Amino acid sequence: MDGIGSTRLTSGGLLLLLVAACPAAEAPSERAIDPSVRFDSEYQAGDVRPHVEFLADPARGGRPGGKADAAADYIVERFQQYGLKPLFSQKQSGRDAYFQIVPEATDETGEAAVMGRNIGAVLPGSDPQLNDEVIILSAHYDHLGMRGGALFAGADDNASGVAMLLEVAERLAKQKTAPKRTIAFVAFDLEERMLFGSQWFAAHLPWPEKNVKLFTTADMIGRSLGNLDLPAVFVLGSEYAPHLKNVLDDVGEPEGLEVARLGIDLIGTRSDYGPFRDRKIPFLFFSTGQSDVYHTPRDVPETIDYEKLARVTGLVDRIVVAAANDGVAPEWTDELQPNLDEARTLNRIATRLLDEAENRRLGALQLLTIGQAKSRTQGILDRGTMTADERSWLVRLSQVMLISVF
Ligand SMILES: [Zn+2]
Repeated sequence: MDGIGSTRLTSGGLLLLLVAACPAAEAPSERAIDPSVRFDSEYQAGDVRPHVEFLADPARGGRPGGKADAAADYIVERFQQYGLKPLFSQKQSGRDAYFQIVPEATDETGEAAVMGRNIGAVLPGSDPQLNDEVIILSAHYDHLGMRGGALFAGADDNASGVAMLLEVAERLAKQKTAPKRTIAFVAFDLEERMLFGSQWFAAHLPWPEKNVKLFTTADMIGRSLGNLDLPAVFVLGSEYAPHLKNVLDDVGEPEGLEVARLGIDLIGTRSDYGPFRDRKIPFLFFSTGQSDVYHTPRDVPETIDYEKLARVTGLVDRIVVAAANDGVAPEWTDELQPNLDEARTLNRIATRLLDEAENRRLGALQLLTIGQAKSRTQGILDRGTMTADERSWLVRLSQVMLISVF
């Protein structure tokens, strides 16, 4: 995954964006987040750590796409242990039915070699009215393998996401009554190779596309953006399905964790939600952001924040269950509304950065950018409204901030 923190902007564009201004106009008032909605995450660091330690153990060889067999076996064995049915084939039995082959292009003999294998299990919904509707919870299990003689263990990217997936799958599978809608648990292969796994899955769904009511994926949920002291998880994508904002509001935040909402256009296509966004299927992307060990051999289990990972796991559990039991299913809209939550998130990042400016030895231009981001978002929050123009300006400024600092 390319994380939150990497964007493609030229230096000329950077400067332009810093000085540009735009007129303000009123926008409809926002539904405020109720900060009192807090809960204790039911997950502990000790629940998620063993999965990360196994998947990012040097013996896993950095889980190269298409060749991460031991990791794949580990995931399938756990789905079987939890009593979850295979997702992909009723005809096949045993472990093979948990795999969806992602083929290479066919060769001259018409044969297609195996490029990779997606893994899937399903928890059928308990409500006969709603159980043909599907909520997907996913995380990619592949990483970079060995490069230049160095091992890329991929503890945060994305053993952390797979740990969440397995723990939530176990917890929901053990519930006396399953949620109303069907929940599919999917571990994608080949995310690091242009999303081939999720591209193939989205093009070869086990259900009619209209039955998929929500796609969720987590990628890197065990550290923090640029190593900022920010106890937050970014949640992106709710802007395309307004009802999801209500779901996020109702679920609230676990004790000790902030839910930082952002528009997906701030980062572009950076993980497995891409193929679903492209099909206008409502989605939510969870990530704690790109830290300084991103895509380096230093992304090892020893330095993961397991308390934070456990809290994010509790949050994702609640959101998936709320969506699976909700009387209303999220619906896609292209009519994006400016959202104060985003200004709140960017204000939070800018504030943290300024608090840590000395340690980070930020340059004058960086401080100017961050200062602008903080004052502009504070103005918007004080006023309580944000125009579409202001938002697009803010997105540009934030991309500058993210690229110039992280
Ligand atoms: Zn990733």
